[in-house]
Amino acid sequence: MSTYARLPVQFERGEGVWLWDTEGKQYLDALSGIAVCGLGHAHPTVAEAISAQARRLIHTSNLYGIPLQAALADRLSQLSAMRRVFFCNSGAEANEAAIKIARLYGHGRDTECPAIIVMENSFHGRTLATLTATGNRRVQAGFEPLVQGFIRVPYNDLDAIRTVAKNSSDVAAILVEPVQGEGGINVPDPGYLAGIREICNEQNWLMMVDEIQTGIGRTGQWFAYQHTKLLPDVVTVAKALGNGFPIGACLARGDAADLLQPGSHGTTFGGNPLASSAAMAVLDVIEAEQLVAHAEKLGKQLLAGFIEKLSSLDGVRAIRGSGLMIGIELDRPCGELVKTALHCGLLINVTAERVVRLLPPLITSEKQASMIVDKVSDLVRDFLTG
Ligand SMILES: *Cc1c(COP(=O)(O)O)cnc(C)c1O
Repeated sequence: MSTYARLPVQFERGEGVWLWDTEGKQYLDALSGIAVCGLGHAHPTVAEAISAQARRLIHTSNLYGIPLQAALADRLSQLSAMRRVFFCNSGAEANEAAIKIARLYGHGRDTECPAIIVMENSFHGRTLATLTATGNRRVQAGFEPLVQGFIRVPYNDLDAIRTVAKNSSDVAAILVEPVQGEGGINVPDPGYLAGIREICNEQNWLMMVDEIQTGIGRTGQWFAYQHTKLLPDVVTVAKALGNGFPIGACLARGDAADLLQPGSHGTTFGGNPLASSAAMAVLDVIEAEQLVAHAEKLGKQLLAGFIEKLSSLDGVRAIRGSGLMIGIELDRPCGELVKTALHCGLLINVTAERVVRLLPPLITSEKQASMIVDKVSDLVRDFLTG
């Protein structure tokens, strides 16, 4: 179906930060398949893990024990300080699990219609519940009736949440991105997540953090909430977890970790041996090569580079980011920059109409980061000065 407005290019092969199209042209990938291929393309350790596991055992069923899945759950729990994990196949599914947990939690407190507070400009997926949670009318339009039980407030606005707390007794949880990705790389004020944690403690709400774009090292911590001292109750991940092999996960601690019970949720493929082996390999490589610290350092280099080259330009509204999530906001729609960049052998993205979004692989070298800064700055300057 014509679900996507595809760019006029088809890739055939990749290696590290590089891709080659069917004509043999080479591209520098500063998007990572939208924050998925943190280890770049065709990473040998991941490829070897997947192929060895495919020869051993691809799938059994969640009817049976899956040692690799259990090991991956332990590993993720250690990294996140969560206690239990539900595995699925995508980000939307990870958020569906979180939403179901919030509803069980609300009903456990005798709330008739448990509600979840969600944010303007958020993105949580394309299933009915997650598109309802998403704060973008374009994602929702045409799919009404939407799902009940969501209350929307502006992002980065603690007072708006406090007002809901005063006026509604049905709230069970808050679902929030630590940095909004699709919404335009919106980085909240430093105290925002801590403020949400505090309100959730006061109100006995679950704090649910959507780390699908931010997680697995991208922002310079394994999970973006780890830039603070707080712990959420529920964390969702997907994108980078399998470096392109589809796998998602919903992690939880405390009461939230025990709400889903046999029969209450499930999925055929979730956490099968092949997916688990891919994710284990990803975590191994990130740890062995210290890519989380690298992401932090490289993110600072990129941000400083863009500020130096672009901040004085008329038409550049803001340059912001967290680790390797970087946004350059212009004063006008700039979608056409994606095609211009493609022409120059560079993959970038534009989100929220006027924000150039960069999500380079965690394995990007300093030299490649400089190339990204130079190329993107030239493109933006040419675009603005016509
Ligand atoms: C991509 C994304 C999702 C949806 O993930 P899918 O795998 O496409 O279902 C949800 N939340 C955030 C923050 C995302 O970036």
